[in-house]
Amino acid sequence: MRRHDREVTERAKIDEIIESCDCLRLGLNAEDGAYIVPLSFGYAPGEIAKFYFHSAMEGRKVSMIADGTKAGFEMDSAHALGEAELGCKHTYFFRSVIGTGTVRPVADLEEKKRALTLIMAHYRKDRAFSFTDEQARTVAVFCLTVDQMTAKEHV
Ligand SMILES: Cc1cc2nc3c(=O)[nH]c(=O)nc-3n(C[C@H](O)[C@H](O)[C@H](O)COP(=O)(O)OP(=O)(O)OC[C@H]3O[C@@H](n4cnc5c(N)ncnc54)[C@H](O)[C@@H]3O)c2cc1C
Repeated sequence: MRRHDREVTERAKIDEIIESCDCLRLGLNAEDGAYIVPLSFGYAPGEIAKFYFHSAMEGRKVSMIADGTKAGFEMDSAHALGEAELGCKHTYFFRSVIGTGTVRPVADLEEKKRALTLIMAHYRKDRAFSFTDEQARTVAVFCLTVDQMTAKEHV
């Protein structure tokens, strides 16, 4: 990273940035370039970090994801404009994470329910949610296993 002073390497702090983000942009390889799709997500931290997404059963991203599909991702938060008198002295504050990994569809019902619970936990800190088998059967769930990620902040 060119701006080492903005690089975040401490894992706990990277996890904190991830927790502060609302949207993960998943980048998939498409024949005509990259397909970047914004998604809500759940996060399972750990030595092997994982993100979970849910979706309708059909659509472009669903058709592009098989077991082991390579993907990139990005998320950011804490946006703010740092104003100045001169145009070139303006700055933009942010916290962000960029990484790569592999995606797979989740078929196992128990893992699907855990994933949906994790997604809800990311957005609703005030209470826990659980899901029935029937509910889990009606949605597609995907797991992104992280190979590597970097974080940067300018706050
Ligand atoms: C903050 C945020 C959170 C979201 N959370 C979820 C989520 O958790 N689960 C989920 O399934 N979807 C979520 N969406 C919607 C998601 O971005 C896609 O629109 C949706 O998943 C359909 O994607 P698809 O690949 O099936 O596209 P399709 O419905 O198959 O559409 C194909 C084409 O439509 C266009 N398109 C699709 N989505 C978008 C878009 N968002 N903006 C502009 N053009 C688009 C693209 O050109 C794409 O090639 C979220 C969107 C936002 C902005």
